[in-house]
Order: sequence, then structure tokens, then C-alpha cells
Amino acid sequence: MDKIQMKTPIVEMDGDEMTRVLWKMIKEELLLPFIDLKTEYYDLGLPHRDETGDQVTKDAAEAARKYGVAVKCATITPNAARVEEYHLKEMWKSPNGTIRAILDGTVFRAPIIVKGIEPYVSSWKKPITIARHAYGDVYKAAEMKIPGPGTCELVYKGADGTELRETIHEFDGPGIVQGMHNLEGSIESFARSCFNYALDTKQDLWFASKDTISKKYDHTFKDIFQEIYDREYAERFEKAGITYFYTLIDDAVARVIKSQGGYIWACKNYDGDVMSDMVATAFGSLAMMTSVLVSPDGKYEYEAAHGTVQRHYYRYLEGESTSTNSVATIFAWSGALRKRGELDGIRELMDFADRLEQATLSTIEDGIMTKDLALITTIPDPHVAESGEFIRAIRQRLES
Ligand code: NAP
Ligand code: MG
Repeated sequence: MDKIQMKTPIVEMDGDEMTRVLWKMIKEELLLPFIDLKTEYYDLGLPHRDETGDQVTKDAAEAARKYGVAVKCATITPNAARVEEYHLKEMWKSPNGTIRAILDGTVFRAPIIVKGIEPYVSSWKKPITIARHAYGDVYKAAEMKIPGPGTCELVYKGADGTELRETIHEFDGPGIVQGMHNLEGSIESFARSCFNYALDTKQDLWFASKDTISKKYDHTFKDIFQEIYDREYAERFEKAGITYFYTLIDDAVARVIKSQGGYIWACKNYDGDVMSDMVATAFGSLAMMTSVLVSPDGKYEYEAAHGTVQRHYYRYLEGESTSTNSVATIFAWSGALRKRGELDGIRELMDFADRLEQATLSTIEDGIMTKDLALITTIPDPHVAESGEFIRAIRQRLES
């Protein structure tokens, strides 16, 4: 059998712990036998990040900018315990944060739907994709405890000497206060990423905030989305047969629960944090959630939404058998391969991505799945597969 040829390399970012183990198995069993795989490899495993003073993370992100498509394995974000465990020179920053800052992107998370893993919300038939703005608001806020009676004000001192003031509250006793911000440039990037992704995936786009209460802050989000839509996207949306619509966040929540799914829900930073965990859990499992970072100028980085599955890795190191779900990591690869095929006009690569996803889903539908899914499936008597066994079962289906 001839292997599928590629033109441009995919930027491959290797990672840590159990997902690094799965990464190697996926390549050996599911990719290399079928594709003449071209990647530019960056080892983002924590030991190599430490050796390079985290330069490798920046290089990998720059390569993603250059080539336009990347796939990333889960990585450890070091904390004090990891500094000790890996004898690190420094507590390096989150690689995802570094990559996001360089690509200036929006994160889109969507559940992988499969028969036998039923959403808790019975009307949901298609995935709901959450687009989370990843800058500002309460995540970059200044806060104060107010000790007692007094006045609290917002003060802006312009570089040109202008001054703006607004009273927050006249306190007559102790309380609390918070000041947060966002940037028009960041909101514009967020809006464009959402509109592009909607066109890309041919899904409607919903955006919601609380502009009736927050008449300047949230209203600015609403206005920026609307202006960019009218000026740059309205025609293309019409042609693609999709719609953009804005509603209040509380109305959106009610509509989401009653919907069938099949759209993108753009959320401000905090709303996205809260709603993506709600949506992932309601669809079944965090291990069945894909994640893609899309920059406003159309660069893509695919990954799984879960972490490095540390507890399983320690069992793996002890020589115990593990049943770790590789579906989200496989879908990160298929997403990257499909996008590369699309950009380079390689039909076979796009078809292969479809077949790989289909083989993965039919393995589960045949009752062969990892333990996390076996615990929640509606399929009777599922076979609980060990990590490698599950991947080999997918290969069998891919070959036939
Ligand atoms: P985690 O790796 O997501 O795992 C938490 C638990 O969720 C696991 O112990 C396991 O539960 C279950 N789980 C998650 N993914 C699974 C899978 N694919 N198959 C089966 N079960 C799965 O989160 P964590 O243990 O809190 O974090 C570990 C490391 O990951 C941390 O160092 C963190 O910095 C990093 N992290 C990286 C990313 C990223 O790179 N995108 C994201 C989040 C966290 P059971 O043990 O009960 O089976
Ligand atoms: Mg969260």
C-alpha cells in the first residue's frame, strides 16, 4: 500500500507523562503505517523545556506561526512539587499560555460525540463548541478590601493629561471592590477568530454577554462583534448559510439547554471557563473533548482538553496496566492532518483524517473502550481495553 504523501510539515509538539506515552503509540500504530508523515518536531516535555530555558516552547510557537498548523501533546505546567520532582532551574510558565500569547488566539473546545456515551441533556444531538476569550476581565483584575466608611472611585489619567472619574460606591461600612479591564484589540481578535471558525466549520455563531446591566463594558463587546460582523462577515455568512446572533447570557443559557447543539457559543473569559466545564461534563467526559487554538490570522494549534494524566503515568512506571483514553489526542492529530490537507489541497490526507476518526468511534461503538468510558456507557457489557490494546483495536478497523 502506498503511503499518503505530504507537502508542508505539521508542527509537532511532544509533551509529558501518560500523554507522551500515548503520543508515541498513536504515531506508531495509527499514523506512520499510513502516512509519509512530515513533521517539524519540538520536544515540549518538561526536561527539555528546562534544558533550553523554555526557548523550545517559543520556537515551537514561532514554527506554528510559520507553517500554520500544529498539534500539541498535553504538557506539565510546573508548580512547586514539579520543580522538586524534575529538579527544575525555574518554575517555567504554562506552555499553553506562552503559545497563546504568541499566536494571540481564541480557544475552541468541542465534545466528541459517540453512540453509547449519551449526553445528560437528552435534546443535545450535535456538539456544542465553546469559544472562550482568553484575555482580561476578572483574570487580570485589581481588587481591594474596603476597611470602612469612605468613597471608592474609578480614575483614568490619560497620557495627554485628560482625566475621567466615576464613583463606584460611597461606603458607610466595610466592603469589597474590583477593577477589571479589556482591550479593544483583543476583543477584535476574539471576534474575528470566532467568525472565521464559524465559516470554517459551517456552524452558527452565538455570542452572549450582559449588556443590559453592563452598559459600557459588556456593551463594547457586543458592539465590536456587531461592527466586525456587518463590515467583514455578513455576506460570507449568508453565502455559507449560517447565522450570527447576539443574546443576553441568561437567555443563551436557557436556549443552550433546550437546543439540539451544532453551533459555536462565544463566551467572555469567565463565562467560557465556567460553561466549558459544564458542557464537557454534560456531554460525558473531559477525555472526549477536543481543543483548538485559532489565531485571528488563521493559524491552528490542535490538542486534547485534558492534562498529562499523571496518576495513570505513575501506575505505568510501576509496570501496572493502564486504561487511558487516547481519543482526544487522536482527534488532535486528525484535526491537524485534515487542516494541513485542506491548506495544501491533499484530498487523501483529509479523507484519512475522517477514516481515523471513524475507526476510533466505531471501536467504541463495538463496545471496546477505556475504563473512563466503560463506567458511563449505555452499551451493555463493554470490554475495558488497556491503553495500547484500545489503539491497536482502532488500527484493525483502520486497516479493514
Ligand atoms: P488530568 O491530566 O486532566 O487528569 C485528571 C484525572 O482525570 C485523571 O487522573 C483521570 O482520572 C482523568 N482523566 C483525564 N484525562 C484522561 C484520559 N485521557 N483518560 C482517562 N482518564 C483521564 O489533570 P491533572 O492530573 O490535574 O493534571 C496533570 C498534569 O497535566 C498537570 O501537571 C497539569 O499541569 C497538566 N495539564 C496540562 C494541560 C495541557 O497541556 N493542555 C491541561 C490540563 C492540565 P482517574 O485518575 O480517576 O482515572
Ligand atoms: Mg476552569
